[in-house]
Amino acid sequence: MKTEHISIYKPVEGKTYSLFGNTHSTDHYYETVSQLVDLCLKQYTDSLELLLQIQKVSRKKKLSKKLHGTGVNHSLVSFLKDVVNPSLLVYTKGVTPHLRNLSLSRRRDWTLKTTEDQYHLYMLEIELVNRIHKEKFKVCEYKIALLPYCVRELQKQCHAVMGDIEHICKGCTETCFINRATELLKEYQIRPYIWMTMGYEAKLKKLKAEHKRFGVLGIACIPELAKGMRTCTKMDIPVVGIPLNANRCARWMGDFYENSFSLEQLENLVR
Ligand code: SF4
Repeated sequence: MKTEHISIYKPVEGKTYSLFGNTHSTDHYYETVSQLVDLCLKQYTDSLELLLQIQKVSRKKKLSKKLHGTGVNHSLVSFLKDVVNPSLLVYTKGVTPHLRNLSLSRRRDWTLKTTEDQYHLYMLEIELVNRIHKEKFKVCEYKIALLPYCVRELQKQCHAVMGDIEHICKGCTETCFINRATELLKEYQIRPYIWMTMGYEAKLKKLKAEHKRFGVLGIACIPELAKGMRTCTKMDIPVVGIPLNANRCARWMGDFYENSFSLEQLENLVR
């Protein structure tokens, strides 16, 4: 590994989830999700078919309110209920109180309404999409990364400036997570941008038209990452992604709070 970041992570609680669970590291989360996907793939050797099934199930808010006429395999649903959900509950302890207190007006926000079952399915989905797209992404001739503005250094004023398609980190603070990721991504010829504006689909469409093999790496909270990965997949763009360690931005918490993501997992994905 080219980077050493082990001591920089402070366990953080999110509004609904934290990949630290009950530990001081996110390693256990990544190991658990990987093992769960391995177990799912014992039922579905075809990872694309498994992905389709997981996406179908996750359209429902609850695993128990399912799934007649949807073509979803019942043994998969049982596995999700009996094995996947109990294994991932430790990471999503905030979902129930969050949903209980969600105001009527905020219930219109699809992301804020994500249920605990859906979080667990998105966790599997992100891992599975990474496995499916990792090699295709790596061989793309033009790769970009979209980094979330909420993990910038909060104690200082950010000096990022608008670049050709989005904002670019100017590296003003060594300890800033965006700066750390930017340095790492550049080592792997991936262009890092800080995602601040809306309407990224049109930009992706343009880049796809301009570059024969174009790939995207996303970093975001779990529901937004799963959604972004689906958008790219529909556009036939190889996509990989890393979830934020917790959801702590203003949309969830009313203000921005310190956050992180795993630089080690990021490097594993792109190396
Ligand atoms: S290092 Fe980059 S992202 Fe972080 S505060 Fe400075 S310009 Fe902004």
